[in-house]
Amino acid sequence: MNEYDSNRILDLVKKINYNSTKNIQEANCYVLNTCHIREKATDKVYHEVGRVKKEFRYGVKPIVLIVGCVAQAEGEILLKKEKYIDAVVGPQSYHEINNIILKIENKNTRVNSTEFEVIEKFDQLNSIKNSDNKISSFLTIQEGCDKFCKFCVVPYTRGPEYSRPASDIVSEAKQLVNNGSKEIILLGQNVNAYSFKNKRLSDLLYSLNKIKNLERIRYTTSHPKDFTDDLIEAHRECKKLMPLLHLPVQSGSTKILQNMNRDHTIEEYLETITKLKKKKPSIKFSSDFIIAYPGETIEDFEKSLSLLNKVEFINSYSFIFSARPGTPAANLKKIDYKIAKERLIIFQRAADIVKRKYRQKLVNSTATVLFENKAKDANKYFGRDEYFNSVIVTSDENLSGKIKKVKLDSCNQNTLFGQVVLENNPKEYAA
Ligand code: SAM
Ligand code: SF4
Repeated sequence: MNEYDSNRILDLVKKINYNSTKNIQEANCYVLNTCHIREKATDKVYHEVGRVKKEFRYGVKPIVLIVGCVAQAEGEILLKKEKYIDAVVGPQSYHEINNIILKIENKNTRVNSTEFEVIEKFDQLNSIKNSDNKISSFLTIQEGCDKFCKFCVVPYTRGPEYSRPASDIVSEAKQLVNNGSKEIILLGQNVNAYSFKNKRLSDLLYSLNKIKNLERIRYTTSHPKDFTDDLIEAHRECKKLMPLLHLPVQSGSTKILQNMNRDHTIEEYLETITKLKKKKPSIKFSSDFIIAYPGETIEDFEKSLSLLNKVEFINSYSFIFSARPGTPAANLKKIDYKIAKERLIIFQRAADIVKRKYRQKLVNSTATVLFENKAKDANKYFGRDEYFNSVIVTSDENLSGKIKKVKLDSCNQNTLFGQVVLENNPKEYAA
């Protein structure tokens, strides 16, 4: 979501004649878009500002803006502690960025803009063309969260759940397709809680599925609690919807899920997976796990391991519990760090084994790949298969934006390698 926000910030500042630069020395405004989800976020901000200070030690100080969730959570503290920062701008008030920059330029003042103005934000963004022209583009459809999982900072930094009007989303998607996007990834902290008037996420998927020249649709991140039958049905009906679902579970133990306030059991989670597989047999899953949540016993931890092996998640993102200031879980007794680290290592090794087995099976099979760009090496193209696996091939043809069948012939932990199958003779491969 921060990537989407950063792109939109760039679209906004172009209105006051700012543009992006790759040469930091040349910049007269420096925008740091931040994430507060886990530890050290604030330290990273001070570190980064220190780096900018050093860079401009002999030059003219740029305007320095801290944007995003760290700005929201730590606004006044950041301004007090680091005089080099000119403004803090929360994730729901970045539409104000041009006024803020102009104010700083004119009056040499400092600004704290951390109101939750999500409706105004999207009203303003709708009036500015989304200029993203990547083959795969993000599109925020929903923001904020009302679920208040006990470990999570999002409800406090992004604010309450808000869904954008469906018509605005469809127009923005068409704009992205006109710019050249072939794939759209719908974003939300709770994307399947999307609800605008009588429209749900499934309705949006059906509408987007009809857009000409849009080839692929994905969405992230969904909550197991909001996985309704209409959405499961959409996985069967929407041919452009890719067969990989990121469905964070956090723990394999129902007791821990209850302690986290996740509001579903492991049985319910597995039931959703079973229903999805029934409707869409090719579907696969990825997930997030929090390791060593306060109160996690070795038995609870083993339940996470057994869930990982049962579902065979093709990607698992695991993190040691991080106490976020202001969240209820921050006051709970933490598990000893050494134990937590050991569990994380065991979990990540197990997740790697599951992933390796899955990827080994892909070797010698054929994947359908949407190519996104040319890799740095000559004649190498980077793309993704339907399961979002990275694929690299060598080709003399410019493959960017094209969908091709690829015969996979090797893999490592992160990338699959193969050759494009020639269209008129599927048994021959392009050089
Ligand atoms: N809304 C999504 C959901 O409910 O599953 C998750 C969004 S959260 C921005 C992304 C991931 O960060 C979570 O799934 C969780 O695994 C991880 N996370 C969030 N807070 C955390 C914390 N305090 N400690 C460790 N991991 C955390
Ligand atoms: Fe955070 Fe997701 Fe829970 Fe909302 S549902 S509080 S975003 S983990």
